[in-house]
Amino acid sequence: MNTYNELYIDGKWVTPSTGATIANIDPSNESVITDIANASVEDAEAAIKAAREAFDNGSWSGLTGSQRAKYLRAIAKEIRDNLDFLAQLEVQDNGKPFTEAQLDMNGVIDCFEFYANLVEDFDNNQESEIEIHSEGYSCLVRKEPLGVVSAIIPWNFPLDMAAWKVAPALAAGCTMVLKPAEVTSMTAIELGRICQKVGLPNGVLNIVTGHGSKIGPILCEHPAVDKVAFTGSGPVGKQIMRSAANTVKKISLELGGKSPLIIFDDVDIETAVEWIMFGIFWNQGQVCSATSRVLVQDGIYDELTARLVQEAEKIVIGNGMDKGVQLGPVVNKKQYDAVMTTLEKGKSDGVNVLTGGKRASGFDKGYFIEPTVFGDVPEDHPIWTDEIFGPVVALRRFTDEAEAVASANNSELGLAAGVISKDIDRANRVARNLQAGIIWVNCSQPLFLQAPWGGYKQSGIGRELGTWGLDNYLETKQITTYHSEAPLGWYLK
Ligand code: NAD
Repeated sequence: MNTYNELYIDGKWVTPSTGATIANIDPSNESVITDIANASVEDAEAAIKAAREAFDNGSWSGLTGSQRAKYLRAIAKEIRDNLDFLAQLEVQDNGKPFTEAQLDMNGVIDCFEFYANLVEDFDNNQESEIEIHSEGYSCLVRKEPLGVVSAIIPWNFPLDMAAWKVAPALAAGCTMVLKPAEVTSMTAIELGRICQKVGLPNGVLNIVTGHGSKIGPILCEHPAVDKVAFTGSGPVGKQIMRSAANTVKKISLELGGKSPLIIFDDVDIETAVEWIMFGIFWNQGQVCSATSRVLVQDGIYDELTARLVQEAEKIVIGNGMDKGVQLGPVVNKKQYDAVMTTLEKGKSDGVNVLTGGKRASGFDKGYFIEPTVFGDVPEDHPIWTDEIFGPVVALRRFTDEAEAVASANNSELGLAAGVISKDIDRANRVARNLQAGIIWVNCSQPLFLQAPWGGYKQSGIGRELGTWGLDNYLETKQITTYHSEAPLGWYLK
């Protein structure tokens, strides 16, 4: 097995300055897989210094988009060549079913290729002249890489979340310090090996593993960092905004949601049940955009919930590497305890558990939780209002469209939302009235790299993916030129 106890700084593998490591646990059996390097503040500073020097010496930002695209394609190829190996590491680290991890790796490949394609022609489209309606002047606009980026990512889609930041940032010409979540760092380290193999210039991508509480603050405060790109929890996102304020760093935040899915009574119940399940049980419900609040119109509520319960109870739970498994363990003990605490609160408060609500039976070890469906959840209960980030869905009934939209929008969060109805005019009307950055009509969760990803309200700031993802890592500069021979004639008459 490869080792994971070194940091990737300035193109070299180095042991953390204190020699400290973190035991990396397999969530399916609680055994130690390997040790992960636990970076110190000094290590993080060394990584920032390397990224700063690599940016300032122009070895990366000075390349053309087309030259940078070659590296991105080479990275994509290495990931493709090692797809099953990387997917298996993801299963060991995160717990997800292998088939889901394979899809994640395909997403990583597509992401690197997408941004390679996007910057291929970058230089040809640079310096476009804009209309300023003023004689004697011309004005053109340039996009330039904004500098050194600290990228801090979560554990739910480890290499995917890395790719969403690394690929556009490198495409744009930025350099980066990447900090994966301490519980899922193995594929990020493999990405470092891949970057070394394809000859990415030293210091362009640096990878520091370790506790966010220890090295996170320096990554967000250091004056040599120009931007912080973060995906994770709301409280840490707010902390990052505060830290970044001192040096007015650019930030982009993706902070999760409690996304609603509205089901009208004209739907095919089987189809609706499938989308509900896909919206909440994929990746054990540890999905920022999971449609974890489901609003069902009165007329079909009882029939639909009965079918949902039947199907939820059929989900095959187990080690993600076992064939046929559809639901693995949640990522670690902290997440398991957090989800179980919320389930216990729901039960003790008398919320109606239609199925699940407890540890999955048949496992001596591992963080397995039954797919859980709560019915008729009070609108002010944490099961309805709070992001649980586990295989737990909350249902409520509604009578009419206005009530459904009001209830869906009654949240501090606004990452995603969905609506399912055979009446496409109604579905489109609802889509326009929902307060979220991602709306799904007659589906839940499909993700396309070309489309913007990000939230309204407290779900975040900015958009990832698509051209918006590239813009995240670019500064916009205007160059205005006075062409006329005529003097200005304001002071000197
Ligand atoms: P978290 O916010 O604590 O961790 C996310 C990343 O931030 C990790 O890399 C972590 O090391 C780092 N971090 C922690 N403290 C930091 C600090 N002070 N400064 C800078 N970086 C810091 O999230 P978590 O504990 O891993 O997960 C808990 C919750 O986060 C989940 O229940 C869920 O609500 C949310 N979450 C959201 C997403 C998403 O896609 N939006 C993904 C994963 C988790």
